[in-house]
Amino acid sequence: MSELNQPARVRFAPSPTGHMHLGSARTALYDYLIARQTGGQFILRIEDTDRKRFVEGAEEELMKGLRWLGLEWEEGTDVGGPYGPYRQSERKALYAKYARQLVENGHAYYCFCTPERLRKVREEQQSRKEDAHYDGTCRDISLAEADRRIEAGEKHVVRFKTPREGTTTVHDMRRGDITVENRKIDDYILVKSDGLALYHLAVIVDDHLMKVTHVVRGAEWLPTFPLHGMIYRAFGWQEPEFVHLSVFLKPSGKGKMSKREAGQLMKDGRSIFVKDFEDMGYLPEALVNWIALMGWSYDDHTEFFSMQDLIEKFSFEKVNPSPAAINFTKLDHFNGLHIRNLSVSDLAKRIKPFFVKAGYDPDDELLLNITPLLQERMRTLDEAVEKAAFFFREDVVPLPEDLVGKKLTANESADVLEEALKTIAGLTVFDVEALEQPLRNLVEELGLKAGQVFGILRVAVTGQKVSPPLFESMEIIGKEKSIERIMQGIALLREIDG
Ligand code: GLU
Repeated sequence: MSELNQPARVRFAPSPTGHMHLGSARTALYDYLIARQTGGQFILRIEDTDRKRFVEGAEEELMKGLRWLGLEWEEGTDVGGPYGPYRQSERKALYAKYARQLVENGHAYYCFCTPERLRKVREEQQSRKEDAHYDGTCRDISLAEADRRIEAGEKHVVRFKTPREGTTTVHDMRRGDITVENRKIDDYILVKSDGLALYHLAVIVDDHLMKVTHVVRGAEWLPTFPLHGMIYRAFGWQEPEFVHLSVFLKPSGKGKMSKREAGQLMKDGRSIFVKDFEDMGYLPEALVNWIALMGWSYDDHTEFFSMQDLIEKFSFEKVNPSPAAINFTKLDHFNGLHIRNLSVSDLAKRIKPFFVKAGYDPDDELLLNITPLLQERMRTLDEAVEKAAFFFREDVVPLPEDLVGKKLTANESADVLEEALKTIAGLTVFDVEALEQPLRNLVEELGLKAGQVFGILRVAVTGQKVSPPLFESMEIIGKEKSIERIMQGIALLREIDG
């Protein structure tokens, strides 16, 4: 149950500065869940005011990732909506208007300090071992004078006029009240000299105008959270509710996930970027389940959640603000659970592209027949290829040494195959039931172990040491082909011993 009884308007507000990572996906997921749960709206807003960090194609990748995860938005850059535009670079005029409003109300001011002067101030502060901050030179320039200087073409920024006295308290739904002394907060720049607003102003103007009720964002925004509270109050606007999510730690649990660490993970065949998980054979359902539980729990034992379950059960009350270590073993586990939860035809559809990518042209009916054999054991979808591609090959050519049975010579192994051939050649029906008993009897008659006989047979028929269950596989391959492959196995084994 949710503590929310009003439809929530929530926004995911990524900056298109690179690949979408797991932390962003989790923020978007929690946004989406709250919107769906309360019958509200999920908004996608692109925060692209930092043109230096802009990455071409990042916005498209973000949208693709969100859609792959099943997180559709009602309002956004591509679908529009009543509070657009939804891309910050198209909202410049709005920020200018509201920045001016703050200046006129005495909550912000124009600053004409040159970068050189600011650098000097910083150096002096450093030598005095003070934290870097703006020294307030332009704080008290009258508006009339400032306007004259602007008119004369002087370069300027807009700074927030942070109160020098008193304290500010802001509230996070999970972390409670956070209070700071105002003098510790710098006069942050709201609008840069090129006229573009910075995050601190843009986020507030947008959240207000877009009627956002809940802001879910990363803990990296906690240090400037009080500043945001001050700006809301300077405008006289109602503040939304805030939840700051924990950071993700490295899989070892020691330290924050860094860019370098991400590079290392790639080398180990892992990733923190959403775009990679599909190719790695993960289901979006599993990824959603996994990230949902990195920072939220329902109780101490339920682990399987479908999107529908999450929509019903998610609540901010159970969001855990302490950092969570990324645990890929858990992801594999969830992927297995969700693979087993799919219908056979759905799973068949999802493994098909992996066969196609590996160069096969899988017949749909055959694919449907083999899927149940894979479903019980698979961890990732790409494993299907390695385990079952032989079904789609005309011929299999096992390595001769793989055909040699445990504790047997090549000739003895060939004898085993010859006996097996005799056993199955007489069968009129060729299915699991018809195959199993006669072949088990053969094991007895030969005085061997099941593992020895079936091991040889498996390599002969499938070409590999590990495969889906043998009798089921033989049934699908069919009598004629099974016999051909057993004969080929005999020939290969006989060649070994000459
Ligand atoms: N653009 C900011 C980011 O990507 C958004 C933070 C927020 O949700 O307010 O971190």
